[in-house]
Amino acid sequence: MPDSDEWRLQGQESYLKGVSLRYKRYVMRDEKWDHDHCSFCWAKFMDEQNVNALPDCLYEGYATLACDQFADDYFWICATCFEDFREHFNWKLVPNET
Ligand SMILES: [Zn+2]
Repeated sequence: MPDSDEWRLQGQESYLKGVSLRYKRYVMRDEKWDHDHCSFCWAKFMDEQNVNALPDCLYEGYATLACDQFADDYFWICATCFEDFREHFNWKLVPNET
């Protein structure tokens, strides 16, 4: 259980508690929406195929599955935050469909 003063926690419990996650490669949604951020530490995810991808960004991470009003891959979580918060958030890890 993280400390209550953990800076990465900003009330994500309301939409990320108990959700299902899948580890996958980040894929660009469209021309204008070419990146996302970790829901906790704001690390940047970019498509490895994107010519504008930065060397220090992430190419893979944990993405949410569609739930309520949110579509597949709406929220992204980096590997570090996943390990730090997996127990607190009680995430369900779904195997890749490949
Ligand atoms: Zn993170």
